[in-house]
Amino acid sequence: QGFVIERTETSDVKNMKAIIEVLDPVPVLSEELLALGKWLAKATICFQVTAFQAMLPAALKTKVSKIIQMRVERTELPEQIRTLFGNGNHLNWDELKKGEPSDLLTMKKALEAGLVEIEYATKAHTKMKTERFVTVSDVRESELESLQRKAKKQYELIQFLKGKQRPLPSQQAIAETKSSRATLKALLDKGFVQEWAQEVYRDPTSNDTFTRSEPLVLTPKQQEALQVISRPIEEDRYETVLLHGVTGSGKTEIYLQAIAKVLQKGQEAIMLVPEISLTPQMVNRFKARFGNLVAIMHSGLSNGEKYDEWRKIHRKEVSVVVGARSAVFAPFTNLGLLIIDEEHESSYKQEEAPRYHTRDVAKYRGANHRAPVLLGSATPSVETFARAKKGNYTLVSLQERVNARPMPEVEIVDMREELRNGNRSMFSRALLQGLRERLDRKEQTVLFLNRRGYSTFVMCRDCGYVATCDYCDISYTYHRKGHSLKCHYCGDEKPMPTTCTECGSEHIRFFGSGTQKVEEELYKYFPEANVIRMDVDTTRKKGSHKTLLDAFGQGKGDILLGTQMIAKGLDFPNITLVGVLAADSMLHIPDFRSAERTFQVLEQVAGRAGRAELTGEVIVQSYTPEHYSIQLVKQHDYEQFFASEMRIRKQGGYPPYYYMALLTISDQDLATVIKTSGKIADYLKRTLSEETVILGPVVSPIARIKDRYRYQCVIKYKHEPKLYETLETVLHHYQRDTTTKRLSISMDVHPYFF
Ligand code: ADP
Ligand code: ZN
Ligand code: ZN
Repeated sequence: QGFVIERTETSDVKNMKAIIEVLDPVPVLSEELLALGKWLAKATICFQVTAFQAMLPAALKTKVSKIIQMRVERTELPEQIRTLFGNGNHLNWDELKKGEPSDLLTMKKALEAGLVEIEYATKAHTKMKTERFVTVSDVRESELESLQRKAKKQYELIQFLKGKQRPLPSQQAIAETKSSRATLKALLDKGFVQEWAQEVYRDPTSNDTFTRSEPLVLTPKQQEALQVISRPIEEDRYETVLLHGVTGSGKTEIYLQAIAKVLQKGQEAIMLVPEISLTPQMVNRFKARFGNLVAIMHSGLSNGEKYDEWRKIHRKEVSVVVGARSAVFAPFTNLGLLIIDEEHESSYKQEEAPRYHTRDVAKYRGANHRAPVLLGSATPSVETFARAKKGNYTLVSLQERVNARPMPEVEIVDMREELRNGNRSMFSRALLQGLRERLDRKEQTVLFLNRRGYSTFVMCRDCGYVATCDYCDISYTYHRKGHSLKCHYCGDEKPMPTTCTECGSEHIRFFGSGTQKVEEELYKYFPEANVIRMDVDTTRKKGSHKTLLDAFGQGKGDILLGTQMIAKGLDFPNITLVGVLAADSMLHIPDFRSAERTFQVLEQVAGRAGRAELTGEVIVQSYTPEHYSIQLVKQHDYEQFFASEMRIRKQGGYPPYYYMALLTISDQDLATVIKTSGKIADYLKRTLSEETVILGPVVSPIARIKDRYRYQCVIKYKHEPKLYETLETVLHHYQRDTTTKRLSISMDVHPYFF
């Protein structure tokens, strides 16, 4: 699938292919988005087609298949080829390629001899949903009377339809009158009713009802913040504003009112939230305020729903999109505002090509539309806050919670101390007591396990062997459901071994504090408690996220236990205790942002407590309580954290003092990877300016993924005019070279994870 981006009379492209089919009668990318795609390809060093594809919903990505068609009568074909065709008269080329090499050779000869030919087929990509609608045509009274006497069922159905003022979906009409398709068919045959197919939208929120919400009267502080963002909106001017507001300071209400101003001007707005916090609660707030003007986009939607939401935007039937990262490409044409909530969240960085950061794309579009960009966070990324301090962004601060609710009290528990006092449990005494009190008072607790997803590994207690994926150098995760081991990188799954593959011992078992493990422990101490567990396992089913949260919101659970996915967005009045287990597990990840991430996530979870009348308490368990990223959570002191972190970034030569780029070289053959990455590093050192630092090549933190070995080089630079040109040269050189064709080089300018 390609994109027409320009028409010219001549071209120097060799071996240009003919167009098989034009897929879209209406262009799917506007002039602005075309330009954005070209820029994105340059800025992130990827192919233009990759950039364009990233901007469109999956439903618009088409598979083109290569088909072999008979050119002569079946009887004229040699026996061998006839067998390949089976009973049909065409064959899929890719299927054939997967089979016996000799079959492929036979077919190639037939192709040369002109017995068969190649054709291409596209799979229709426009997957609109249609539904049959029905309405009454003119029916004479006499005919009705006759129906009433002779065909009771038909009479009831027609009376029902007559009672409705507008056409109804046929299925609904049949269901509501308890009649049947046959009854409807009889009426259709008589010409008493009409039926036709009509396009309908698949609505991800069709089962929900939204009570209209009116704008709240803003606090003076909120009012000030709204004014700052309103100025560029009214003046049609691009400007980036950072709204630094503690959790519960009423940022979302400011977003809502800023968007209302944009809509009043007849313009459109993009509201971005991290995937993880795109909770039903968040969606509710926007739907309740703006009703049908809102489209929703996130990974929880089916491809069909995404496509329909996208088309509502494309057709200008909505003016606001609330969505995760990719919603920044929403095909609006008259943008008045772009908002990025929780701007520090790492999910705003796309980890595969095009490796863009949502913030950069938002700024590019803002400048194009002369619309401001509003970044919001309680704990802005260090880079963003540094820009705001420098005056590149306008800074607005909201350091108080609405209604002057106090920030929750934070207690940091030294888990080493607990151990010294003979407490071997995963819960500190303070946390156990806190939980007990909440259960007695019928208040709610959130227990947060600071880990990505769910990680229990399997280890032999005799020899220390850890079960590791055969294709990736990463330990398997134990899954209770199915009693199996699963690799979270390549998806490989196998049964839980009964004996150690290294020493044969039977003492092999799973370790680590996964959420399931915590749940079990909880029930040991509080058998009467009602625990709602939220992790990748319990939220796999569509809508389960919402079901679990709704249940907790309705007070059906005493304790909500979960990973990252419960850290944000929760706004329940009855939560008075937040417990953090393994606060420092992220601190030890070898990444210069690990302290920043630790502070951010701790502040986020702490913000879940005491949001209404009841005062909140937070208990943070840690093995390194002296670390500044943990200590400063106690005072909720972002500024102090920023100052400490900046000193360390300066010393280490990290962003925002230096920029970085990451090159990852991978291949199935280790020797090739080592040799090539060495050559690349040499080339970079020779070509780039002297102040630029080239680190590596070294083995990547995960040395092998999907059976490919990985090495990396890191480039650190302050000012490097030749960077893009040099990286593109590297990329193109190794793509043309046939000896390294299978080698893959991924480039990440401003990487987020190492
Ligand atoms: P944040 O997005 O900064 O975490 P929210 O916008 O969610 O904060 O506000 C926190 C709570 O305060 C919400 O329950 C919200 O409805 C309420 N709130 C926000 N602004 C006001 C206001 N001006 N008056 C009354 N309540 C408000
Ligand atoms: Zn062993
Ligand atoms: Zn694997």
